[in-house]
Amino acid sequence: MITVEPYDPQWAADFEKISADLQSALISLVPDAVIHHVGSTSVPGLAAKPVIDIDIETPRGAFFAAKSALGTLGYAHQGDYGVTGREAFKYLGAAPRPRHHLYVCESGSAELARHLALRDRLRADDRERDEYARIKREGARLYPDDIDAYIAHKAAFILALYKKAGVPDFASRVYDGYEHQMSRAIALAKEAAHFGETPVGAVVLSPDGAVIGRGRNRREARSDVAAHAEIEAMRDAAARLGDWRLTGCSLYVTLEPCAMCAGAIIASRVSAVYFGAADKLAGACGGRVNLFMELPNAGTAVTGGILAEECGRLLSAFFAERRRDADEPVRRGD
Ligand SMILES: [Zn+2]
Repeated sequence: MITVEPYDPQWAADFEKISADLQSALISLVPDAVIHHVGSTSVPGLAAKPVIDIDIETPRGAFFAAKSALGTLGYAHQGDYGVTGREAFKYLGAAPRPRHHLYVCESGSAELARHLALRDRLRADDRERDEYARIKREGARLYPDDIDAYIAHKAAFILALYKKAGVPDFASRVYDGYEHQMSRAIALAKEAAHFGETPVGAVVLSPDGAVIGRGRNRREARSDVAAHAEIEAMRDAAARLGDWRLTGCSLYVTLEPCAMCAGAIIASRVSAVYFGAADKLAGACGGRVNLFMELPNAGTAVTGGILAEECGRLLSAFFAERRRDADEPVRRGD
């Protein structure tokens, strides 16, 4: 459930409190670190999801020093979730802290520049701030349980704001929508083809749009009937989360899932599936059968046809080449 709450001055106080702790831990190892309050809770008067976003800006090369300083406070490094220049940390300490997301960004990181530009723009312009709040409330009302649709609803406004603010690289992973996410799965499908596997690729996104699982078909390499791209991506995500439940996550895959994968998607509670090419022979999302309609416990929204042509072309090119190889008595290159 996506909740957008009215602005609460407590958010600024919460940031100050967390920031003071961070500063005292960082001061000896990374004295030049700058702690920024970013995201919607950092803009006075803006309705927001009540989670404090914090970016720690560090000089180049200071990441490991920052990581060990944060470790003393109980923060564990989680990786970059697919976003270059932004490392996520999770608070595992005993002392209670307000809900927050913590990232370490190197000075000059494009992601940090985007966060600061958005915040400063909204802080400086009440009309834009109020318009953004309106769009967020509208998105939460229209798509209370669909984080991808909610993010897509806000995307045009944020992109326009980046342009107005002169952010040089505003192609953020979250705001580029479905085709951008599918292109990640396509890259993995190409990798599969390179290794002689049927080219299918998949990624799993967390509820806030970060890539937490990657998979490509590895059936031949693993001699495993279950090593389809979707299963590989869901296993990767589950290992990262330490939980097989992928509630709120979305899965992008270049080919319509088969019955085995559709079953696993439903069982792991993935909230949304986006696939590229349809599979009239074995597809279980309506191409051949529709398990998502058949099973009463399937709470997954399914959308097909995303970059379908490009996804399908990979498969037809792969099989055409295989047939050509089979027809030739001596393999090319031998
Ligand atoms: Zn499958």
